[in-house]
Amino acid sequence: MACGEQGAFICKLSGTFRFAAGSNGKFPTVGDWVAASARPNEGKATIHALLPSKSAFLRKVAGQMTEEQVIAANIDLVFIVCGLDLEFNIRRIERYLSLAWESGAVSVILLNKADLCPEVEARKNEVEAIASGIEVHTISASQNVGLDILNNYIPIGKTAAFLGSSGVGKSTIINLLLGTERLKVNEVREVGSRGRHTTTFRELMLLPGGGMVIDTPGMRELQVWGDEEGLKQVFDDIEELATKCRFRDCSHQSEPRCAVQKAINEGSLDPERLTSFLKLKKEFAYLADRQTMKASAIEKVRWKAISKYSKNLKKHGKT
Ligand code: GDP
Ligand code: ZN
Repeated sequence: MACGEQGAFICKLSGTFRFAAGSNGKFPTVGDWVAASARPNEGKATIHALLPSKSAFLRKVAGQMTEEQVIAANIDLVFIVCGLDLEFNIRRIERYLSLAWESGAVSVILLNKADLCPEVEARKNEVEAIASGIEVHTISASQNVGLDILNNYIPIGKTAAFLGSSGVGKSTIINLLLGTERLKVNEVREVGSRGRHTTTFRELMLLPGGGMVIDTPGMRELQVWGDEEGLKQVFDDIEELATKCRFRDCSHQSEPRCAVQKAINEGSLDPERLTSFLKLKKEFAYLADRQTMKASAIEKVRWKAISKYSKNLKKHGKT
């Protein structure tokens, strides 16, 4: 399924593209921008090429080698959703922030279920303290309070994704943005054929204002491919302290003259924050160790497929 100016189309891959994608594994994923020729009267289109993505969420696939699996590409904005109920967890927000940063998308934090929280402002301040420079909004999706602002973040041509644990209210928010109950994929019928019997939700949704929302089942458990830049941004206080440790490669656990441990002892740094920092650091180190292809290499492969395709077209006199 692809959306364009002329509407949404059921898509097939062109033979040339399928051949190229088969050898390098670069099939389109939700949110990719593709070059496609549309047949509006049939409601169908043919995908000829994948355009390089700006940002990509990748999931680590279990196995011998770390194979990247793109969950959603070309996301401009990530809404990190957290409930202001008993599930409220500042460490989880840190984690999501770090993931979103790595993807290259801009993040906005939504603290939902404000109706269930007696201390909304205090919570908001707490979140702002760990998320410098990131906008934080308190909303109540089930009461439809505070959601108007979200549309401003998703203008025409922009794509947003929602990150957050199950039950925080993502579907409720998406339905409100859509202004209708979200369609199931099995409600989409191909012209001239029987309906497909899948029960999953449509993963890319076009909003009334022209923006798009991506929601894939895998978004929640995603892992990000990349360097540690995101970690540094989200934990800039720890990184700052670390410059004052005696040892350059201090692990901030038992080394003498560790500035991070000193800050914890003096009460100016929450020990929980160090714990989540170390945990994420370990995960990134794991990813970096096993990384076999960097993002730039992925882009190269994509461009190669596109230029090969365009050369082919020229050779066969189709342009
Ligand atoms: P998702 O798993 O993140 O998609 O969460 P859902 O949108 O399915 O919401 C989970 C539950 O929380 C549902 O029962 C919603 O009605 C409820 N919920 C969503 N937003 C709010 C809110 O702002 N306040 C309250 N009290 N409940 C909400
Ligand atoms: Zn240290």
